[in-house]
Amino acid sequence: MKIAIIGGGVAGSSAAIYLANLGLDVTLFEKKESLVDGPPMCHLHAGGNLYREISDNQCIQLLKESIELLRLYPKAIDFRPTIIATPTFDKANPSDLLPRLELLKKEYQKLIDKDEKNKVLGEVEDYYKLYSKEDILKLKEKEVTTPETLDDWMVPFAKNVDLEKIKFPVILVQEYGLNVFRIGASAYLMLKKFPNAKIKFNSQVLEVKEDKKFIIKYIQNGQTYEEEFDYVINSAGFESGKIDDSLNKKRERFVEFKAAYVTKWENKEPFWPEIIFHGERGTPKGMGQFTPYFGGYFQLHAMTKDITLFENGLVKSDENSSQPNLDKKFIEIIEKGWDKNIVKERTKKAVNHLSNFIPSFSSVNEAFKPLYGAQQIPGEDETLRAAEISFDGNKYARCEIVKASSVFAMADEIVKKLVKLGVLDKTSKRIEEINLDTKEVDELAMKLAENRGYPKELGRVVFGV
Ligand SMILES: Cc1cc2nc3c(=O)[nH]c(=O)nc-3n(C[C@H](O)[C@H](O)[C@H](O)COP(=O)(O)OP(=O)(O)OC[C@H]3O[C@@H](n4cnc5c(N)ncnc54)[C@H](O)[C@@H]3O)c2cc1C
Repeated sequence: MKIAIIGGGVAGSSAAIYLANLGLDVTLFEKKESLVDGPPMCHLHAGGNLYREISDNQCIQLLKESIELLRLYPKAIDFRPTIIATPTFDKANPSDLLPRLELLKKEYQKLIDKDEKNKVLGEVEDYYKLYSKEDILKLKEKEVTTPETLDDWMVPFAKNVDLEKIKFPVILVQEYGLNVFRIGASAYLMLKKFPNAKIKFNSQVLEVKEDKKFIIKYIQNGQTYEEEFDYVINSAGFESGKIDDSLNKKRERFVEFKAAYVTKWENKEPFWPEIIFHGERGTPKGMGQFTPYFGGYFQLHAMTKDITLFENGLVKSDENSSQPNLDKKFIEIIEKGWDKNIVKERTKKAVNHLSNFIPSFSSVNEAFKPLYGAQQIPGEDETLRAAEISFDGNKYARCEIVKASSVFAMADEIVKKLVKLGVLDKTSKRIEEINLDTKEVDELAMKLAENRGYPKELGRVVFGV
């Protein structure tokens, strides 16, 4: 059976690795020149603790799927925890999150009981820890160069965050960094190991027709080709609706354009955890996210309309088309890049947003190319954050993920279908791990970062394996 996968983002690339490992004949079409060059990702949502509004079930699903993602892409992970602080102006109370954290701890234990190799987020007891104001004040004078304990990770927070602006307890949780350039590099290096997996770069699928087989028409380096396939996986990200439309298949989805800003900060701390300052999404006090990278770079999100979110940035499909109609100005940014003044202005606003809580950060004013893009949210619920797969007929699947971690749940569903079709054996096992050379990942990830217009340091991790 010949399988076509349209779109080499994290969903399509991971599905390709998974199916190639089962010996299937896989062709991955990617219109760009490298893998995982769509919207960014920086956070491994191992418990969904950034989303107060989602259900416990989605959080459990994100925990499980993040562990799976980490196990396949260990070299893409920055092993540093996340600190979650609730601002004094926020309506919520930090202890509202405690029942869910306890639940997640139990679920983590269950996953380890099932398979010891799932123990990738540290000891269960350390999944999260609470800090009172007194605990944090005690850490203010501590000198740490390399963090070894949970308390060590709190030291930069204790020294730099304005404790008058937050409620207590503050929560430290084992949600790690996820490096988009290293996912791209790892996926490519893994796929290269399978002779039955072909990657067609610079190959844009123009049309898919379904007769007895699927006929894929694509353009590669100015030349148009047609090729027949038995099975199609649509993982075209925010453009999945175009493939649906070409096949006359109906699907509801949202598309959202968002951006995170990149800056550099010469500061005294030898390391940083990620820090979240919760807030109500879409209001001027939306959640702030302070994400450290290698080499003193920081990525900033603030869930307000004039920083990460955009007026009319969220659109929905309608009865005429499965492809939501994103405003032309966003498509232009995706395809041609940004106006430098807007980058400066939005980066400064992001710095100001975070400086409310980290006063010494206010001196920062460098603005690099933002990490941005449009992502899809399948279905009718715009707050959905966990996996979603859908099938139309026996041989057409859509892998529409909201968070990078959701990819394996979808590949499992595709495998179940292929077992039913008699293409795969019931005993088919999902991929466990593929060893990669760290230096090779470092080099390729830095090259990808540079080729895409970012400082090459963004391709490294601080606490890697
Ligand atoms: C600002 C921002 C921050 C984010 N942060 C996080 C985070 O911290 N953690 C997290 O888990 N998620 C995060 N996300 C979400 C994450 O980026 C997406 O869930 C993920 O990238 C989606 O992957 P995908 O493979 O489904 O789609 P994409 O990455 O969009 O991949 C689709 C691919 O298909 C290709 N393609 C499209 N049409 C065609 C065609 N016709 N022919 C050939 N190729 C085609 C595209 O070039 C693209 O490479 C963030 C998103 C944004 C916008």
